[in-house]
Amino acid sequence: MDCIFCKIIRGEIPSSKILENERFLAFKDIHPAAEKHILLIPKKHIASLNELSAGDAGLYGEMLLLAAQIARQEQIDQSGYRVVFNCGRDAGMEVSHLHLRILGGQKLGRMC
Ligand code: AMP
Ligand code: ZN
Repeated sequence: MDCIFCKIIRGEIPSSKILENERFLAFKDIHPAAEKHILLIPKKHIASLNELSAGDAGLYGEMLLLAAQIARQEQIDQSGYRVVFNCGRDAGMEVSHLHLRILGGQKLGRMC
């Protein structure tokens, strides 16, 4: 699969890992938009939210639980953080592998 995040999962591209288990990997974004900017991805290649099916409900529930765990691990759970899924062109999605951004470590501007 010629997908940059699949290559990171396979270890073909290096990453700064934050957390890893059988189904997910979290690593630091290479171009951080905030003091803390972590990407959480499923190891299964799913292009975007548009490709999720009812059978994946557990997967994205687990992603939110892991996001909260990562926030605790990164010590931003009390100061606050934002989790974002981009989907498609208008949201500025560039990498077509489902990813949840976890942003924090500083005051984040209002967004919608
Ligand atoms: P998006 O624009 O929503 O598709 O988000 C893709 C994110 O992946 C961007 O914030 C990029 O900075 C980040 N990114 C791209 N390549 C890498 C990489 N090799 N390691 C870490 N983050 C990356
Ligand atoms: Zn992929």
